[in-house]
Amino acid sequence: RTIYLDGAFVPAADARVSVMDRGFLFADGIYEVSAVLDGRLVDNDAHLARLDRSLAAIGIANPHAPEAWARLQAELVRRNGLAEGVVYIQVTRGAAERDFGYGPDLVPTVVMFTQPKTIVGAPVQASGARVVTRPDLRWARRDIKSVGLLAQVMAKREAAAAGAAEVFMVEDGFITEGGSSTVFVVTAAGALVTRPLSHAVLPGITRLAVMRLAAEAGLALDERAIAVDEAVAAREVFFTSASNFVVPVVAIDGSDIGDGRPGPHARRLMALYVALARAEAED
Ligand code: PMP
Repeated sequence: RTIYLDGAFVPAADARVSVMDRGFLFADGIYEVSAVLDGRLVDNDAHLARLDRSLAAIGIANPHAPEAWARLQAELVRRNGLAEGVVYIQVTRGAAERDFGYGPDLVPTVVMFTQPKTIVGAPVQASGARVVTRPDLRWARRDIKSVGLLAQVMAKREAAAAGAAEVFMVEDGFITEGGSSTVFVVTAAGALVTRPLSHAVLPGITRLAVMRLAAEAGLALDERAIAVDEAVAAREVFFTSASNFVVPVVAIDGSDIGDGRPGPHARRLMALYVALARAEAED
């Protein structure tokens, strides 16, 4: 496959980064993931805006304007013949002698690659996901999409060992978010609830799109923290992410959600989001 590295499209085997790269040594970098559907990027402007915010938050100059990023992403998608999957972007502070401090002269390392993945009609859409809860061990600026993901790696490994597709991370009895997703519950009255944005969670791009679609569909929305007990007892639970869109949850920590089958809100919002993505691609 073809990788984008520092200004060039190269075969994967030729894409080499210095061991002194601060992304490697300190996780001193940012990443972003956009979905590709029918060969077109989904909600990409919002992903590029979040990339810009994350870079600004850690003081890395954004190496490209959004239009330039989008052109590079589209070219990478084309070169890899990607129809459905994701484009991964990573920008690290660059390579230097190992030291916590750094000078003004570092050149950011920019890497992009594609990953094919079935999103629409993925088996988990029909089966629903079983999830487990784990303590949220992450740092205090989860709104920054940092490549430092060790807490998620550990939590997701435990989830996989328990036969779960995703982990819901918990702090003070409340769900912060999924290991790589935003959590929604549907109340008995049919309102959608998700946690408000703060430093505690990543501002999910799919979260925002789904909230807009839900509002257009006339659903009530409530932004507040969700206790684990509330989620387990909820009529319906689902999670959202760029790489899966909307995934129904059928069990949390072994307890069935609702009747233990994917719920109607998740199904409907998934269909609406796919339709929106396809309509945007036609513009
Ligand atoms: N929270 C976390 C911790 C994530 O890693 C992700 C995936 N990027 C999300 C939420 C969902 O964000 P998005 O909808 O932008 O993919």
